[in-house]
Amino acid sequence: MTHVTHWIGGKPWTGASAAHRGDIYNPATGQVSGTVDFASAAEVDAAVQAAAAAFPGWRDTSLVKRAGVMFAFRELVRARQADIAALISAEHGKVASDAAGEVARGLEVVEFACGIPHLLKGGFSENVSTGVDAYSIRQPLGVVAGITPFNFPAMVPMWMFPLAIACGNTFVLKPSEKDPSASLLLAELLAEAGLPDGVFNVVHGGKEAVDALLASPEVRAVSFVGSTPVARYVWEHGAAAGKRVQALGGAKNHMVVLPDADLDLAADAAVSAGFGSAGERCMAISVLVAVDPVGDELVAKIAERVARLRVGPGHDERSEMGPLVTAAHRDKVASYLDSGVREGAVLAIDGRDHPVTGGAADGFWLGPSVLDHVTPPMGCYRDEIFGPVLSVVRAPSYAGAMAVINGNPYGNGTAIFTNDGGAARRFTSEVEVGMVGINVPIPVPMAFYSFGGWKSSLFGDTHVHGTEGVHFYTRGKAVTSRWLDPSHGGVNLGFPVNG
Ligand code: NAD
Repeated sequence: MTHVTHWIGGKPWTGASAAHRGDIYNPATGQVSGTVDFASAAEVDAAVQAAAAAFPGWRDTSLVKRAGVMFAFRELVRARQADIAALISAEHGKVASDAAGEVARGLEVVEFACGIPHLLKGGFSENVSTGVDAYSIRQPLGVVAGITPFNFPAMVPMWMFPLAIACGNTFVLKPSEKDPSASLLLAELLAEAGLPDGVFNVVHGGKEAVDALLASPEVRAVSFVGSTPVARYVWEHGAAAGKRVQALGGAKNHMVVLPDADLDLAADAAVSAGFGSAGERCMAISVLVAVDPVGDELVAKIAERVARLRVGPGHDERSEMGPLVTAAHRDKVASYLDSGVREGAVLAIDGRDHPVTGGAADGFWLGPSVLDHVTPPMGCYRDEIFGPVLSVVRAPSYAGAMAVINGNPYGNGTAIFTNDGGAARRFTSEVEVGMVGINVPIPVPMAFYSFGGWKSSLFGDTHVHGTEGVHFYTRGKAVTSRWLDPSHGGVNLGFPVNG
């Protein structure tokens, strides 16, 4: 049994023992594998105070030294990638290769943050008025917090802290209580990379810890990733307390297949993007919009592929899909198969019948399912299911498909499969979604672009990482300077004008 505690001031927390703890499960066995301490307001305050104390020294650390820590951290994470992936797989359930993939995508943000000396270059204008120069600089905010979901226990924190820290801020991370161990290994590696104590802290727990971060006057900005109701809550309460907030919420991602598409490639993509990580990805394809007349053929091709998928424990390298994160989540996801049928959908593939290879009977298993002939009023369409259930909506035309997507309250990711460049270009322009794939089912932007959705998938106005991330974690200053000489003498009460 592991015991996971907070990381405060450069070391594991040794203060008062936790009043509340949560169980950590191995989803492939259904057994409790450890416990995690839940932070009270006092422990959150200890982390915030450690971060506040470390801020002046870290802010004044040269850009080159800050970048140097990121370069060292990158090498350490690369060396321990398999260990981080194994921790993720054991607590989240995803297959180890997928867990290694999320570490690799997180590393891209670390690599972006290594370029911080370039990213923080301001502008300079000589002689904006006679003998007067103007320039702009960007400075860190102070203590910033990150609150992250269960589905990417390494990558989503790495969307946030490398850039925040490289910009000169100090950081308090509140990861998901369901799979907390990866964040502690990342904290150890940051310390090994030479990050001073207190610059990066981790507090575990749930709503109480989140509320304490939102209430803390020292916390200047909050990055949140999770479900839409909590994203809205964090945004409202954080903004009311005067903080910057970027809060990324849930999703319902549509993949449109036009009649001219290669249906084999489209079926491959739908299965990969619908069932990878058991559909527990904010960029998973959860709705396939088949434009007439391709629906029947596409569903048949998907069924062939799904039948061959190997579901099993994440540590077995032959497994392609692991269990769901908890029993309660598995049961909730499965309930949509029944409610969908009650509301008129056709259960084309029932994942409850899918074989599980090598898994313990009590694991949180649910195989891949397809609900066909789904329509927008149905609960299985309206709700974010966040599991291995692909809904197929039939649309009569491109315009009908577009109306479905733009009528949905979420706007995280979407994709179109077609060989018609004009149709793809029109789709990109018209769709009200933040991240668009053309023949790419999961269009997660590279670290040097920014990640974020529209509508109910994002509260606040700044996406994460890329240049928007740099902006979020810094504030701008414009400086006007004149080096005086005797010719500048004389009092003038008029408004300064340029000359
Ligand atoms: P969640 O909203 O339940 O939890 C996210 C974080 O908020 C966790 O740290 C959790 O401890 C905390 N939290 C939970 N309930 C809270 C409450 N009532 N008050 C304050 N804090 C609370 O999300 P989850 O189940 O961990 O993750 C899955 C969700 O995250 C899905 O909706 C998925 O779409 C979303 N997600 C979105 C993105 C994105 O980029 N938009 C990325 C990954 C996941």
